[in-house]
Amino acid sequence: MWTGAQWLVLLATVALIVGLFMQPDRTLDILWFVLIPVLPATFLMNAGLWRGICPLATLNTLAPNERGATLSRAWITWSAAIGIALLFILVPARHLLFNTSGFWLAIVIAAVAVLAFVMGFFVREKGGFCNSICPVLPVEKLYGQSPLVAVRNPRCVPCTLCTSRGCLDLDPSISVRTAVGNGSGVREWIRTPFGVFAAAFPGFVFGYFQVADVPITEWMTVYGTILAWALGSLAGFALLAAILRISTFRLMPFLGALAVGVYYWYAAPASMDNFGLPGGEILKWALLAFVAFWLVRALQRARGQEAPQRPVAAHPVAPRFPLGSPPR
Ligand code: SF4
Repeated sequence: MWTGAQWLVLLATVALIVGLFMQPDRTLDILWFVLIPVLPATFLMNAGLWRGICPLATLNTLAPNERGATLSRAWITWSAAIGIALLFILVPARHLLFNTSGFWLAIVIAAVAVLAFVMGFFVREKGGFCNSICPVLPVEKLYGQSPLVAVRNPRCVPCTLCTSRGCLDLDPSISVRTAVGNGSGVREWIRTPFGVFAAAFPGFVFGYFQVADVPITEWMTVYGTILAWALGSLAGFALLAAILRISTFRLMPFLGALAVGVYYWYAAPASMDNFGLPGGEILKWALLAFVAFWLVRALQRARGQEAPQRPVAAHPVAPRFPLGSPPR
């Protein structure tokens, strides 16, 4: 089933690229007002639902398993910073180009697909793209840190430990814990790319919805507004966490819920309005209730994580992948 779904989604992506060239307006509507708004909710359920069928992951893992290096600890940090930078460049560019130009969006999707495929030959499994420079990875980590349902990773059986620590597919909560430095205070997470991203992201999402689609010549207004909100969010949450002594393990679920809540506050009514459908407000409040439910569950789980622990490598492989060989 997983394999069938993976090839189906890959074919759908080819159709999407063709649609962006041939029928740009209709395809852009389907992408931005249907497909993309579904993803954050699936990440809350379990990011593995998407990671299991993501077409870029399919391309990234096409190269033979034995090829390529593993993603070292040093590169995990650097590549995470690259992925976050790409996210912060590409999302505001929607207002300048990708919300309205099917041609340029298709070119970028095709270029990223080629990049994901090629990187599979340099770093094993998902280490070259999905677990490193993918701009969606930080969002998957933030929203997927406390999944509501269990999803068995269908791609890497057996696990080849392509990523030396913190693989999201092996354990979402350990993945986030590793990404924020494994400490419990502001001093630890503020020094990590993921910690900075997590605190900036609610403001970044809010800032995105404060700007309209404008000509590319107004790039400074778009980037300036969105990044100003992101920086304000980062500074505000760092200060709040320091003053109130909020532990990292409580703060991360709160930041994730806030970012996805802000997103659905604007995106749910916009999606319904775009197709002239009623019920945008009902959908918005239903999704916000779902996000609140997720937050309560995530905070309950966070209680057991308060005590700082030693960094954990991507180790729980053998029990989760009984068909595979134990990690080397
Ligand atoms: S499960 Fe193993 S092989 Fe798959 S991405 Fe994670 S570390 Fe790499």
